[in-house]
Amino acid sequence: MSPPRFSLRRRAQRSVGKTAARVSRYFGNHPLFAGVAGTLVALAMAALTLATLGDGRADAIEHAKENAQNLVSIVSSDLARNVEIDDLSLRSMVDGAQDPVTRTLAPAIRRSVLFDRATTAAYVGGAYVLGADGRVVDSQNTEVDADVSLADREYFVAHQRDAGVGLYFSHPFESRLREGKHSVALSRRINDASGQFAGVALLAIRIEYFQNLVERINNGAQGSVTILMDDGTILARKPFALRAPGSSLAGSSTFRVMVDHDAGSYVAVSQLDGVRRLYAYAHVPGTPLIVVVAPAVDEVLAPWRHRSRLAGVLTLAFGAVFVMVSWLLAFALRGKLRAEAALIRLAATDPLTGLSNRRVLDHRLDEEWRRARRTGQPISALFIDIDHFKQFNDVHGHADGDAALAAVADCISSAVRRSVDVVARYGGEEFAAILPDTSAEGAFAVAETIRGAVQRREVLERADASRVTVSIGCATRVPTQGEQAFDLLAAADRQLYAAKAAGRNRVEAAAGSGRSMARDSQA
Ligand code: GH3
Ligand code: MG
Ligand code: MG
Repeated sequence: MSPPRFSLRRRAQRSVGKTAARVSRYFGNHPLFAGVAGTLVALAMAALTLATLGDGRADAIEHAKENAQNLVSIVSSDLARNVEIDDLSLRSMVDGAQDPVTRTLAPAIRRSVLFDRATTAAYVGGAYVLGADGRVVDSQNTEVDADVSLADREYFVAHQRDAGVGLYFSHPFESRLREGKHSVALSRRINDASGQFAGVALLAIRIEYFQNLVERINNGAQGSVTILMDDGTILARKPFALRAPGSSLAGSSTFRVMVDHDAGSYVAVSQLDGVRRLYAYAHVPGTPLIVVVAPAVDEVLAPWRHRSRLAGVLTLAFGAVFVMVSWLLAFALRGKLRAEAALIRLAATDPLTGLSNRRVLDHRLDEEWRRARRTGQPISALFIDIDHFKQFNDVHGHADGDAALAAVADCISSAVRRSVDVVARYGGEEFAAILPDTSAEGAFAVAETIRGAVQRREVLERADASRVTVSIGCATRVPTQGEQAFDLLAAADRQLYAAKAAGRNRVEAAAGSGRSMARDSQA
């Protein structure tokens, strides 16, 4: 149904309005809070920007890591695929070499049986079948120096010693068959019919193959790419100048991490060139190789740094302006509030006596009257008038008259003490006091105190022995329905006239509660 919803919305609007009013009142009362709030908002904004920038940095690193891992996986699968193809060639070389029929074939046909097409790939330096003495028995390329023995090569020795080595991946060496070219060897053992060592099937892989592979990877001017063996021997590295193939990384502190894990990443400062890099690495399956792709952290973070610097400077500038404006507004507001408070004080105060003025009196009388009506407590009013003051002015002059007015005002405010009491200059040389929660007896006593104080006040005594006195009218009411606050003052005023008529320097009270308070109080 729509009416309740409508009223709900109204109520919501009203409560929002009330909250807004409360907040604005709070700011009005605590102007400096605007500055504090502005500063806190600016700090929160700065913290938010900082957190966002921090996230951006982590994202950039994460992205670079993924990218490096992808490159590692591309290089790794290229290596794995080629090694797999080479191994197939080696297996067919072993099979051919172990088949007694092959020995009987003419050299050209035997070569085509032993060496398949894969052995002619550009990166393959040579394919050989070695005999048990380490000399070349068959070669994929015809011209081979038959006197060269490879019996001392690590791969030869390994196969000779152990029948179960399988595919052997050698360290880099300088070829004896191909003018000292740097190569690594892939090899398998050849057995004779009785299972004894009968030689080695050998594929020499040009070291340039690995170097070409790393050169193709683009990971920034400072980034590095390395292919190394699991004992730390480097096969290829970019930038090339830093480490020659064949040198070892085994001494590096992070190398052990790479040996112990299949794949992973870490950030480290290179011992070679001092560049901080994000290293991503993985072992190439089926080989003793590890591929490492390492973009430089500075290059990875360069775009982020550029953006952050801009965002940081802007945040700082806006934040500073925001804080400054907040505090300027806060101080301006405080100044305005102080001026307003001073104006309000001035507008409410009588400048000669420092007492409240009649406007304040009317307002407070109204307030206290309503409160008395709620609580059922009596409220009293005093009307005070200086006796023969016109004459005093005529004799002593207006300056003395003013001093006397101030002295009388002081006597009144000294006698009317409670915080809820109100004393005001009603006009000319007339004063009024409102005494909430005060009975007729109490009001009369206060009036007597005032009258006595004025009479005893020395400054009010003249050389000619004349002195300033006051007459006071008292009235007390317990407010009832239909009665007005002003009636109380009017009643006190009537009693003042009565006091004047009865001879002045007197207190006169109305018979409010059935008992006359009229009394001749003259000494
Ligand atoms: P009484 O009240 O006893 O009947 O005689 P009164 O002479 O006081 O009579 P009235 O109230 O008519 O006179 C008021 C005089 O108070 C008039 C004026 O000379 C003096 N008066 C009023 N306001 C001021 C003031 O601000 N400064 C001074 N010096 N005198 C004032
Ligand atoms: Mg008067
Ligand atoms: Mg008078």
